Amino acid sequence: MKRFYDYVCENGHKTEKFVVYEATNLKCECGALANRTLSAPAFKLEGWSGSFPTAHAKFGKSHTDKLKSEQKLNS
Ligand SMILES: [Zn+2]
Repeated sequence: MKRFYDYVCENGHKTEKFVVYEATNLKCECGALANRTLSAPAFKLEGWSGSFPTAHAKFGKSHTDKLKSEQKLNS
C-alpha cells in the first residue's frame, strides 16, 4: 500500500514522496540519503486539534437546541 511519507536528508532537505511503507529511506535530490520522518502522527494531531473546536461547538449547539425543543414539548 502506498501513501505519502516525509523524508529528511542529511543536508536537511524535506521531501514528501508517495511510496510503499517499506521504503524507510530514499535518495534525496542532492544525492544524500533521506530518512523517513515521523511527521505523519503530528500532522494527524494538527488536523484533529484544528477541527475539534468546530465539531465540538457544532455538537454543543445542536445538543442545546434539541434540549430546548424537548423542554418545549414537555411543558
Ligand atoms: Zn538533500
